[in-house]
Amino acid sequence: MEYKVGIGYDIHRLVAGRKLFLGGVEIPYPKGLLGHSDGDALMHALCDALLGALALGDIGEHFPDTDPQYKGAAGSRLLKQVKAMVDKSGYTINNVDIVIIAQEPGLTPFKQQMKENICGLLDITRERANIKAKTNEGLDAAGNKEAIATYALVSLVKGG
Ligand code: MG
Repeated sequence: MEYKVGIGYDIHRLVAGRKLFLGGVEIPYPKGLLGHSDGDALMHALCDALLGALALGDIGEHFPDTDPQYKGAAGSRLLKQVKAMVDKSGYTINNVDIVIIAQEPGLTPFKQQMKENICGLLDITRERANIKAKTNEGLDAAGNKEAIATYALVSLVKGG
């Protein structure tokens, strides 16, 4: 196969008393994402997209939320481990596209730093990564500010 494509999705509940991490950026907000790890839905969706392209299952198989070593784990740490799997596969990352769905907080000021973090962790140039942020028009859990969700799509190319 010359190309492989993978999709990832994640959603975490917004709760008081947690720091909000998205794309490895700590974002000032009264609530954060609940989870066994740091709850970084962007990093988790991206890990799942990469695992999908590699046909290596999902993030829950590799980093079980019952495993104490992943308690509070930074999303960047998980992404680094998945990147090592990509490196072993003989494929390279062609591009990454991400959609964050958050009614609040506004994410425009933080998108660039998220992109920098992702490009750094995945060792890709800036034109290979894109992050979009949108509200959910007040609808459903993300729209009601109860959660933040993320979709990620990646393509891999053989060799490189
Ligand atoms: Mg998650």
